[in-house]
Amino acid sequence: MTQADQNGKIVRLKPEPRIIPRDQHNISRSVISDNALKVLYRLKNAEYKAYLVGGGVRDILLGREPKDFDVVTNAKPEQIRELFRNCRLIGRRFRLAHVRFGDDVIEVSTFRAPHHVSDSKGEGHIEDGRIIRDNVYGDIDDDVWRRDFTINALFYNIEDFSIIDYVDGVKDLEAGQLRLIGDPAQRYIEDPVRMLRAVRFASKLGLRIHPGTEEPISEYAPLLKNIPPARLFEEISKLFMAGTALQTFESLRHFDLFKYLFPQTDYLLDTNEDNYPHTFIMHALKNTDQRLNEGSSVTPGFLLAAMLWEPMRVVADEHIAHGLPEMEAVQLAADTVISRQILTTAMPRRFTQMARDIWSLQVRLKRTGKRSFRVLMHPKFRAAYDFLLLRAQAGESVANLVDYWTQEQLNEPLAGKNKIKSGYYKPRPRRRPRSRKRNNKPDS
Ligand code: ATP
Ligand code: MG
Repeated sequence: MTQADQNGKIVRLKPEPRIIPRDQHNISRSVISDNALKVLYRLKNAEYKAYLVGGGVRDILLGREPKDFDVVTNAKPEQIRELFRNCRLIGRRFRLAHVRFGDDVIEVSTFRAPHHVSDSKGEGHIEDGRIIRDNVYGDIDDDVWRRDFTINALFYNIEDFSIIDYVDGVKDLEAGQLRLIGDPAQRYIEDPVRMLRAVRFASKLGLRIHPGTEEPISEYAPLLKNIPPARLFEEISKLFMAGTALQTFESLRHFDLFKYLFPQTDYLLDTNEDNYPHTFIMHALKNTDQRLNEGSSVTPGFLLAAMLWEPMRVVADEHIAHGLPEMEAVQLAADTVISRQILTTAMPRRFTQMARDIWSLQVRLKRTGKRSFRVLMHPKFRAAYDFLLLRAQAGESVANLVDYWTQEQLNEPLAGKNKIKSGYYKPRPRRRPRSRKRNNKPDS
């Protein structure tokens, strides 16, 4: 909606939102985490506006348990920091506050205003249509338009427990529809990661992507090439760790997005005549989903090993054909495919190391007999064994190895103690770990 202002300039009219009072929706305070409530109330008591927004509101309305809670306020980041001792300001592109309660983090952001060109202070910065920095502050009726999907733009007001809906988000939720706010092409140009988010939410929440939101994706997919590798890795983890990895993968392939995440794998999927790479990945993702849905843990390292298994093997086979021993060939191939992959997605080293371990253990798992014990004791043995199971499920002829290692684990439930007593295995003296910090450094 637009109208001419006093100077004859066309300005956007701020539409009135639909207010859904407490007795007409299912968000009660009992389903909001205590920590999110604490944050909302402290902001409110300090006379700021405070709303729950995003996934928290959306998921509760859908009858699901939210993964986390996001809060939005008119308090500026520095003012938020003054209110909370346990608060850290993060992000340059998008500055926001993390309020920490033990392991739980509540993300608190400040209302953003649109900025169509770069402002003089550089707080809002746009390059080739892409939002590089988004730190120009505004009010709720500015903020709502910069959000991605209508279902993510619902505000739960701690003042009177109502929901504020400017964009027909509740209607879309009821219709099971995922729809971008504004002009889809422009929204993808501003931030191409929204294409991945569309696939993620549609798969995870079982929603249909609105035709207008879906239509431009294939055309704009190549814009993902401009996304910093660290951000892409974050997005990939979310894509494949939501319990619907298999469907997400199919959808990413369908929209031609997958090749911007795993180019080496995508190339093989397209050029390989036999169906093995596809079958293998399907099994790996199905397995990931099963584990997540049973509440077991999943690590991105395992997923990485699965995604790059075929590319790694192709390179390793070339080295073997040139006469290199298998273990060396695999290690060299691992270096090659990982260094190519991190140009697209920068992963912490502990994940790339896990992939390397899983692959080299596949070679060691071939050697049965006397040295089994050392392999059983390897800290990544279990992951490597699970990987071997996947290979068998996908049709590789490794069933005899699976039987062998299954039996070995049954034979040796107390492997360490038995073997040490018999003098078979001499443990090395244990060194104290140098640092307890996790290896978060990106691989390079
Ligand atoms: P999840 O369940 O994955 O946390 P979410 O919708 O809460 O889903 P977040 O990444 O936590 O996603 O972001 C919180 C909110 O911030 C979103 O709901 C959306 O309103 C807004 N948002 C996040 N990323 C973008 C983006 N790239 N473009 C526009 N709005 C975004
Ligand atoms: Mg969230």
